Amino acid sequence: MFSQVFEQYDWAAVKQDIYNKTPAAVEKALSRQRRGLDDFMALISPAAAPYLEEMAQISHRLTQQRFGKTIQLYIPLYLSNECQNICTYCGFSYENKIRRKTLNGGELLTEVMAIRKMGYEHVLLVSGEANQTVGTDYFIKALQAVRPHFAHISMEVQPLDQHEYELLIREGLNTVLVYQETYHREDYKLHHPKGKKSNFGYRLDTPDRLGKAGIHKMGLGVLIGLEDWRTDSYFTALHLRYLEKTYWKTRYSISFPRLRPFSGGLRPKVEMTDRELIQLICAYRLLDEEVELSLSTRESPLFRDHAIRLGITALSAGSRTNPGGYGADPQSLEQFEIHDDRSPAVIAGMIRAGGYEPVWKDWDQGLQ
Ligand code: SF4
Repeated sequence: MFSQVFEQYDWAAVKQDIYNKTPAAVEKALSRQRRGLDDFMALISPAAAPYLEEMAQISHRLTQQRFGKTIQLYIPLYLSNECQNICTYCGFSYENKIRRKTLNGGELLTEVMAIRKMGYEHVLLVSGEANQTVGTDYFIKALQAVRPHFAHISMEVQPLDQHEYELLIREGLNTVLVYQETYHREDYKLHHPKGKKSNFGYRLDTPDRLGKAGIHKMGLGVLIGLEDWRTDSYFTALHLRYLEKTYWKTRYSISFPRLRPFSGGLRPKVEMTDRELIQLICAYRLLDEEVELSLSTRESPLFRDHAIRLGITALSAGSRTNPGGYGADPQSLEQFEIHDDRSPAVIAGMIRAGGYEPVWKDWDQGLQ
């Protein structure tokens, strides 16, 4: 389990190592054909900032070699905003007095049809963590309803046990996203004071349970802004490398959510500039030519237009972050504000104008 690997590391020591990296270490990392975690550490360090142009060129080349000139498009479908956890950064947090909503079968189909009309064949099912209402039984029913309409189904819901993942995979689940939020144990406690999510270790070992269950693809990431993004990203990369070695049949993706305003909002403890986010995206690509890199509508149109040329391989578009947002209940409260509200057709046009091909389903399915 990754928790045993994680125990061997000390946050403060890792952070110091990152900030001690020199331009010579960055140049060495840039000159290599294959890079390791120590190179990644140099590439995310402040010392790498002057090398951004060179990093971007290598990242662009490696991405095109592996993925061609294609960008995958996906869209989130929020099943429920019910949640028994308190998370300091989320509009769905248990203590927030909002109208709670879980889609019933008819409403789910309304959402599915609205999304299919936009052209999507890849959907990401999202929900808060409320075991009584949105537990495994609900997910099985949701997958049975959604499966006939999509070529690829991803989920971002509460962490589950291995046997529950096995049940969902049997129903057609392809991908699970599970973000650690932060690898800083004390800060994690601070931001998750109540509910099942407050169990740091259970969340940390969720990708292992997914790997054992035989998931096709899983997505990792941290919520950028909760803690020092460089140190959190190092631990994400460490986690990724461990998983790739242990569950080598599974594919992996990384996301880069930056803390966004929501109703009652938390300010980021650590700000990350656009240049720094580009640095991080390129550093991941230089570490790992295979990993998919995904950017959501949390980011601005300008930033997203630019990022597709630098290593990003998947974008969401036209997203609503509330259950029923595509038609069944458009007035329910959003999880967070989106920054890029352009329609999927406009995003597809932008991708084509950049010389890339928008892909409406996950290409892995075609290769199996
Ligand atoms: S981040 Fe997830 S678990 Fe936390 S309050 Fe929001 S929906 Fe619930």
